[in-house]
Amino acid sequence: TNRTFTMIKPDAVENGYVGPIIEKITAAGFKIVALKMTRISRADARDFYSEHSERSFFGELVEFMTRGPIVVAILQKENAVADFRALIGATDPAEAAEGTIRKTFATSKGENAVHGSDSNENATKEGNFHFSDREKF
Ligand code: ATP
Repeated sequence: TNRTFTMIKPDAVENGYVGPIIEKITAAGFKIVALKMTRISRADARDFYSEHSERSFFGELVEFMTRGPIVVAILQKENAVADFRALIGATDPAEAAEGTIRKTFATSKGENAVHGSDSNENATKEGNFHFSDREKF
């Protein structure tokens, strides 16, 4: 598909970066087809990051992702999944390329400002978790 899913994580919302991040996303050619502020439960966060459940940082990750509001969106662009992963940059902002969203707005490897789906399948699954058909344009 030509769509991906993103979350602006609690650190970036707290730091007042929702507007600047959305500006960067649209400037890069992504069209917003769904958008809202919401939050996730601890159970949702554990499920979302279940691949990391055995890692030492898992508890911290779940606390972080549930400590405040997030902004979720579905984005449309040709080659959306790969192009969006390139726009956000490496997981650790210290390793992210200049000009990427994480280089510009992330706090640390754990609190790294944004999520971008890693496959078309996950993009669809994650988008459908947050948005009903009526909310997708
Ligand atoms: P995301 O899935 O959020 O888009 P990603 O695909 O770049 O991030 P993953 O390796 O899937 O990175 O890790 C998921 C999330 O877990 C990271 O975004 C980060 O918030 C957290 N995380 C990953 N590795 C670490 C670590 N070593 N220490 C602390 N937090 C980490």
